[in-house]
Amino acid sequence: MEINLISDTVTKPSKEMLNSMVNAEVGDDVFKEDPTVNELEDKIAKMFGMDSALFFPSGTMTNQTAIKLHTNPGDQLICDKYAHVYNYEGGGVSFNSGVSCKLIDGNRGMFNNEQLIKAINPPDFYHSPKTSLVCVENTTNKGGGACWNIEELKSIKNTCLENSLSYHLDGARIWNAMIKMNQSPKDYGSLFDSISVCLSKGLGCPSGSVLIASNDLIERALRVRKILGGGMRQVGYLAACGIYALENNFLRLSKDHDRASEIEKTLNNLSFIKKVEPVETNIVIFEIDSIINSDLFINKLNEKGIKIISMGDNKLRIVTHLDYTEEMHQAFLKILNELKF
Ligand SMILES: *Cc1c(COP(=O)(O)O)cnc(C)c1O
Repeated sequence: MEINLISDTVTKPSKEMLNSMVNAEVGDDVFKEDPTVNELEDKIAKMFGMDSALFFPSGTMTNQTAIKLHTNPGDQLICDKYAHVYNYEGGGVSFNSGVSCKLIDGNRGMFNNEQLIKAINPPDFYHSPKTSLVCVENTTNKGGGACWNIEELKSIKNTCLENSLSYHLDGARIWNAMIKMNQSPKDYGSLFDSISVCLSKGLGCPSGSVLIASNDLIERALRVRKILGGGMRQVGYLAACGIYALENNFLRLSKDHDRASEIEKTLNNLSFIKKVEPVETNIVIFEIDSIINSDLFINKLNEKGIKIISMGDNKLRIVTHLDYTEEMHQAFLKILNELKF
């Protein structure tokens, strides 16, 4: 039995999801004539209480489009030092938008309103880049699946309004945050100028991301998506997976969270584990004793059919997901408990 815990993106579409693809009605989405894509976009815009939504092939492209829409070349955006837009989008912020990032030294990928206020460049000081956008991520990926306090997000919103800054949410795993914090999509829709969500993480689709915003922004996003090469044709087959996933794979995310928290408990009882970051959702980041080489640890698990990845600095990451079954979970806990160095 192979147990793949490197990411929640490793899931494969179930029979039922594949059936929803086979039965999807499709058309040419570049002409906005794919009824299934239109249905998914309407459904998600309504869920979040925002005007409009647009389907994209990847979360990176949704974030990059949002950044392009909110900035001009030479501008600066503010994000945490762990942000996906800064660390894991190939330098797209500068490549696509000619924008730099001011990084906040936050906690687990999150910062507070005071830190934000200090990071804003004075608008009349023309020597420094113009601050035009604030990006936050919920849950945080490199921060170990941590969830923002919504009151902090509201304070940050006010600062954005007072300083005429746009406010973007990288909500690749917003589904996990909403389940954990018992929140609704509208709680977020009322706060942000734009939101990107992923369908191919916890929700288990093979691909797909959606940008949600005002009518005006989404109209402009259509052109940016085209420029980036993200205009796809009969892509209702993928949108059908998204509709299926929202109806069937959203509420079950709490199972992934429970299993991650059981893994946390087990790791905390092992003598060679130095520290486990508190688990909030489906990501477990932990540090092993420096006397044990992390490659050795990973290889030892690999030999038993278990795949996990390194985050550098002797830190390792485990992500639970839709295809990680109870049987796999019990087998994995047993293997962990029996590990010896
Ligand atoms: C996965 C992810 C994205 C988008 O990644 P793609 O692989 O391009 O879909 C964006 N932000 C965060 C926080 C992510 O984890």
